[in-house]
Amino acid sequence: MKTHSPTDVWEQLAAYSNPVPSDVAGAMGRLDVEVLRELSGEDSTEFLARCPAHQALTGKADRRPSFSVNSRSGLFHCFSCGYAGVFIDLVEDQLGLPRAEAFQWIARHGVHRQGDTEEQEKRKEPRERLTEAALALFGPPPAEALARRRLTAEACAAFGVLWDPGSRHWILPIRDPHTGELWGWQEKGKRFFRNYPQGVFKSRTLFGDLTWRGRKALLLESPLDAVRAHSLGIEGAFASFGAHVSEAQMRLLKERCEFLVLGLDNDSAGCTSRDRLYARWRPRGLAMKFLDYRGISAKDLGDMDDETARSAYAGAHYPWRRRH
Ligand SMILES: [Zn+2]
Repeated sequence: MKTHSPTDVWEQLAAYSNPVPSDVAGAMGRLDVEVLRELSGEDSTEFLARCPAHQALTGKADRRPSFSVNSRSGLFHCFSCGYAGVFIDLVEDQLGLPRAEAFQWIARHGVHRQGDTEEQEKRKEPRERLTEAALALFGPPPAEALARRRLTAEACAAFGVLWDPGSRHWILPIRDPHTGELWGWQEKGKRFFRNYPQGVFKSRTLFGDLTWRGRKALLLESPLDAVRAHSLGIEGAFASFGAHVSEAQMRLLKERCEFLVLGLDNDSAGCTSRDRLYARWRPRGLAMKFLDYRGISAKDLGDMDDETARSAYAGAHYPWRRRH
């Protein structure tokens, strides 16, 4: 197992923190996002500007201004096109810098405070250290369990999927995306579902082969659906462990592929999340398509027969083809 090199630590710091410049309006000016109005709130100010992502997202420049940045949290949002993020995202997007350099750019201009992010909140939770020995009680999934879920033994091995012979539950390891260190696992059975340890940082990693890099990746909600996709010969399948996909998870995906197929569940939470991810990440240069659920009643890829699943993937489409 690799240890953390100083670069890894620096990159993780940059990836998971939310530095807010001491002079938000000044920093916006240096990013060519000129402040046109200010709205003072109780403990912070909203700086309004024309949305810098509007042209790329909607094909039209923002005239309103629709874009605002909060002085305290560093969160920005365009209420018209949905472009949103934390301040470091804006630096990254406007200057075309990698994350670590965007972090340094803000540091050079004076960091006022760390705004809270979802990741930082999660980091406050207690964390147990696990070793690989914790998995020693589990073994490879038996043939009948594989057949029931239409998974191959090869796919389970590739994704490190194990089986608890006592409870007859699937064991889906959750690992550090950079070092492969074991953080915990998701235990899944018929109508049974548990994360171990409680509060494991699953929003900071992905389920899948984290060493994989390639042209086209597929994002699913459930780990077993990612194993199913791999069993069907679909490369680069990852799972986010739910409909909510974090910033950190999207960055991990963007580092790994040129093109992402969004295959979140075919329900309202999945569709809402999918549309938000598209609005937010398309302007950041990530090409995306939607898994083709048209004419399919299945809730997710795991519910489809082989042929339907393959054609839903092959028929992945851009969002506009959905609108009539
Ligand atoms: Zn906009």
